[in-house]
Amino acid sequence: MSFAPGILEGKSAVVTGGATGIGAHIVRMLGSLGANVGIVSRKESNLIAAANAFKTDNDIDVKWQVGDVRDPEAMKAVMTSFAEELGNIDILICNAAGNFICPTEDLSWNGWRTVIEIDLNGTFNCCQAALPYLKEASDGGRIVSISATAANFGWPGAAHAGAAKSGIQNLMKTLAVEWGSYGIRANYVSPGPIEGTEGVDRLIIAQGKSEQVLERIPLGTFGEGKDIANAIVFLASESGKYISGAELAIDGASQWVR
Ligand code: NAP
Repeated sequence: MSFAPGILEGKSAVVTGGATGIGAHIVRMLGSLGANVGIVSRKESNLIAAANAFKTDNDIDVKWQVGDVRDPEAMKAVMTSFAEELGNIDILICNAAGNFICPTEDLSWNGWRTVIEIDLNGTFNCCQAALPYLKEASDGGRIVSISATAANFGWPGAAHAGAAKSGIQNLMKTLAVEWGSYGIRANYVSPGPIEGTEGVDRLIIAQGKSEQVLERIPLGTFGEGKDIANAIVFLASESGKYISGAELAIDGASQWVR
């Protein structure tokens, strides 16, 4: 770890979708640096297994709540419970998402709507639900949402995710402006392909596309979960205090290859 030990001591963070993949890397990093962390997602079994692993592997006690980010009332209840359990919510990481590859001409209304509801509407629901607590954060509340560099361009086969992630980018810029007077910083991190995740395993490796994708990454490798977690800590800690409405792309420069 490349940050000073304890730099997030006294901070409380909620990570949506924090039981798996990139979210779990973020939880480990925030918890290891001293933050109290809560995770929320739909599957209780995921949450219990992750909480046990965080304790066994990293000696981090993580609070968890079952909840669907698509449900605004449920998210209000979840954020209120976390604020009580954790002491407040100083940092909100909107990471929960769904995606699948489908040409737009074959994409069903239900498929389109589901991804928009989880990724974009879910991010809105969580930001609004956490707002009363983020306003109370002593050094200014921090929101970091996870977008994707693919959403900065056309994303063939992922019109739903591309539209949702682009929407998240503008939502963060708008919240940076609207909620700046509350001291809240709203930014987004845009990963390229990150190894060891459901996204890369299912959408790239299982489709036999690894070599093709790696050829288009100037740094020559997939990213790692800790690369995203490092960016989150930078934005959520004292280092990021004057950064709001910004994108931090973590993709080995792959977005610039055409
Ligand atoms: P992942 O392991 O599939 O994580 C997604 C998480 O979201 C799961 O823990 C899931 O938990 C939760 N979730 C899904 N729908 C939900 C809902 N309706 N309500 C609450 N929680 C829900 O995926 P990942 O690959 O680590 O991706 C993490 C983030 O990075 C996503 O925002 C993704 O778009 C972004 N990203 C990933 C990559 C990559 O290479 N992997 C690249 C670019 C961007 P439950 O099933 O328990 O609900």
